[in-house]
Amino acid sequence: MPASRSALEPHAVSRLRTARLARSAKPFMARGGIKGERCPGCRLVPSHCLCDVRPEVPTQSGMCLLMADIEPLKPSNTGWLIADVVHDTFAFGWARTEVEPALLALLADPQWQPYVVFPGEFVEPERVVNDVQLAPSGKRPLFILLDATWPEARKMFRKSPYLNALPVLSLNAEQVSRYQLRRSRRDDHFCTSEVASLCLELAGEAHAAQTLQAYLDVYTHHYLQAKHQLPPDLNGPAHLQLRALKLA
Ligand SMILES: [Zn+2]
Repeated sequence: MPASRSALEPHAVSRLRTARLARSAKPFMARGGIKGERCPGCRLVPSHCLCDVRPEVPTQSGMCLLMADIEPLKPSNTGWLIADVVHDTFAFGWARTEVEPALLALLADPQWQPYVVFPGEFVEPERVVNDVQLAPSGKRPLFILLDATWPEARKMFRKSPYLNALPVLSLNAEQVSRYQLRRSRRDDHFCTSEVASLCLELAGEAHAAQTLQAYLDVYTHHYLQAKHQLPPDLNGPAHLQLRALKLA
């Protein structure tokens, strides 16, 4: 089991954000231009900080986020939430012309079985899998998520030769529609943390999958309440669900 990370220690997405900010010529302004103090642990205004409820669930699975350039800077980026919950989350900025040696080393690490998560209809069928092979190899699944807008993600997929040899995990329609039913959703545009949650489910890690979903709900609630300058409801449905999962 991985050692617990201190709440004060920045995770991979947080470090990537700091590095990206340092490279910015001019300060990045969140949409809407809201100024003022942000909690470095959760990026929300201090009155809506949710660091105290951040769950951490031990998982076999790891997550590898390939993030489009601006993605780590967006206050609404949900890759951050994945890194909060899943201890073994790695994050890399994506660039067309170069690849970080640390990413190549991670993909070559024999403890992991990497899967690129991408819709199967855009990929040669022989690369596509719909399930996560557990156990026989003894390898832990490593889900590579392209954290980007859809046009960016397509470009990243096409122009990253180091991904070409890896199996492509395509979330199947049945799993997606079960998820939509459970969440009363109508569209099939998933944010990155929802995709991660579906991957955990496929890997047989239901509790972690549900925890990540509940944490996304808590985050969304705090984010929206802050935006509307209303206090968060710590006993609302999102918080209750997250607390119930903590006890489960
Ligand atoms: Zn916070």
